Amino acid sequence: MNRREFLKVSGALGAAGAMPTLLGGCAARPLPGSGKVSATPTVCNMCFWQCAGTLYQEDGRPWKLVGHPDDPHCAGRLCTRGSAGIGAYLDTDRLRQPLLRVGEDQGQRFKPVSWDEAFDFIARKMEAIGKEHGKDRIALFSHGGGGDHFRRMLQAFGSHAYAHPSFAQCRGPRATAFSLTFGEGVGSPDRTDMANSKCIVLIGSHIGENLHNSQVQTLTQALDRGTTLITVDPRFSVAASKSKHWLPIKPGTDIALLLAWMNVLINEDLYDHDYVARHCVGFEQLVEHVQAFNPEWAYLETGLDPALIRATAREMAAAAPASLIHPGRHTTWYGDDTQRCRAIAILNALLGSWGRPGGFYKQEKVDLPEYPAPKPPKPVGDWKQLVQGDYPLVGTGISNKLLEHSIGEDAFIKGWFVYATNLPMTLPGAHVQIEAAAQSLDLMVVVDTMPAEITGYADVVLPECTYLERYDDLRNKPERTPSLALRMPAFAPSHETKPAWWMAKGIAEKLGLGAYFPWQDYSEVLDWQLQKVGSSLAEMQTLGIKMFPRKTAIYFEEGKPVSFSTPSGKIELYSSILADVGQDPLPKYSPPERPPQGYYHLNYGRAPAHTFARTINNPQLFELMPENAVWVNPAAAAVLGVASGDYVQLENPQGRRSNRVRVRVTERIRPDSIYMVHGFGHTDTRQRLAAGVGADDADLMHNVRIDPVAGSTGMRASFVTLVKTGEVA
Ligand code: SF4
Repeated sequence: MNRREFLKVSGALGAAGAMPTLLGGCAARPLPGSGKVSATPTVCNMCFWQCAGTLYQEDGRPWKLVGHPDDPHCAGRLCTRGSAGIGAYLDTDRLRQPLLRVGEDQGQRFKPVSWDEAFDFIARKMEAIGKEHGKDRIALFSHGGGGDHFRRMLQAFGSHAYAHPSFAQCRGPRATAFSLTFGEGVGSPDRTDMANSKCIVLIGSHIGENLHNSQVQTLTQALDRGTTLITVDPRFSVAASKSKHWLPIKPGTDIALLLAWMNVLINEDLYDHDYVARHCVGFEQLVEHVQAFNPEWAYLETGLDPALIRATAREMAAAAPASLIHPGRHTTWYGDDTQRCRAIAILNALLGSWGRPGGFYKQEKVDLPEYPAPKPPKPVGDWKQLVQGDYPLVGTGISNKLLEHSIGEDAFIKGWFVYATNLPMTLPGAHVQIEAAAQSLDLMVVVDTMPAEITGYADVVLPECTYLERYDDLRNKPERTPSLALRMPAFAPSHETKPAWWMAKGIAEKLGLGAYFPWQDYSEVLDWQLQKVGSSLAEMQTLGIKMFPRKTAIYFEEGKPVSFSTPSGKIELYSSILADVGQDPLPKYSPPERPPQGYYHLNYGRAPAHTFARTINNPQLFELMPENAVWVNPAAAAVLGVASGDYVQLENPQGRRSNRVRVRVTERIRPDSIYMVHGFGHTDTRQRLAAGVGADDADLMHNVRIDPVAGSTGMRASFVTLVKTGEVA
């Protein structure tokens, strides 16, 4: 018998009903009739962009969600997914009550328990881990602000290990590279000044398919003004279709192109001399470094016409400093990702765009004090050194390293809290490791609104209410104009669900650590903070969002000195920090692996209707996009003998196969690559719409390349072939 086997909650614990009922139950309602209409401020939680909006209801029933007109994250418009927040609230497959795994010897199952029983069980297990191994052995995996409450509870207990997969599986290389170069990161929302750019370069960045709301709007405004868009992508993306130049690069050769662009800017004397002289160090080393990488050399690597490489470099220079090489967001590709992001940062420095209009502006946020509460005790040891000591430049947890250190009898980590992140579909190719961790851990607690593959491995499942049913921390993001936005409950929590702050406080009280949560209701915390900055909860319940004045200039000011948080106080083209830790101080190109005969590069991306794997079961969004398809070039389709509409399975070189997925034959993808939208291929049948539809790219990744600087997982170095199922269109 496994110590912990994957379990599905029985249908009796969910709602009854067949698929048509599920869809019909969440169909959009008509305009309100003669009932009482009320409005509640909220902050969208359908993705991390956190747009402020308003939930309208009629006679207590949800009617519609709209964006707040003053909000810089959305400018009054929610995206497709934000508008479908009501679908998340109404989803009949939601988790409804706390669940406890029982019956290890006679077959495992979940049983519904009270909150008190669940908290008792968790507290006893935590105390047992603390006694046997030490109090520092429980890790938190978290995506979203609610995880901070569990982090506080775990720190009060003595466990400080944590990771946000959004670092090592997404933005980690970008954050690391920009910090090494400029002394600070790009932020979220990104500090890109696209509204004022004259030339924008997107490298594998699918703006428009990834609906980062205000970013899509500012890109659209820029295009309306005639901004030059240059897109580098093996796929003819939506952004590529709006571009003056599409560069259909060979997968994995982006650094070669970036080095060639630097070569042209330097050798044709097109870089910003004054900016480089005033703000940068390492220019001489960079000049020497890029001499070998001219466009003719790059052609052999990238397949891109040298004349096109030169022409695009000249266009960037002509628009500088309002010339933005976009840093992208999901930057974990081939394992040399910090170096690729460094190359992007260096190009921006050569163009003088950092701190200048049309490039990157300086962000500010509201100086919001912390609610008075005891500080958690200091960690007993250095968990980061133990768990991820090979990555000294990374100041945050690395999720794949925490996973590795959770496997086996001697593993450092003995317990997990997993907040709102479905690890089997998030950590690439990690199904075997997650199974192994499930066998090793003494405790796994999963907190989420929906059942998912990870909840099947839990000892305890804690059902969180949706964002429309709870207070959360005020949104206080660094941005162009500082602002605070309020998320508050529009509805009482459904079923027996509860907010994260309430759960963390309840567990802390069972552990005798209630003093770390000195509030009865989280609204007390918000009101206290708001009073400190001249507002109040009552005011924010009316306003929804409040703007605050900036304290510093948004761009570098002419003639005023600028200091960067780097060792030299300057922009580091040559990174002294990387040199000190034995890494390449200037970006280095290594040719990527090519697919074996009969296989294709596995490319993946986003669609406007969904956020990762989190929204596939949302009835409103499922109706818009119920499955993904695999894009295949006509030349490859002819070799494989497949046509649009046929079903195939994808198989990696290790023989792992996906669910069936439809073929879409299109010229928009290179012949050596296939492409699919990420997030589909759920196997957990508790998500009754999403289960079994489409294919999961993360499960097929067999060649995960670890970035030597950021420790992050390069996810684009895997290959697949297509296996016909016999189901033809
Ligand atoms: Fe919500 Fe869309 Fe904004 Fe994301 S971008 S927070 S899904 S409205």
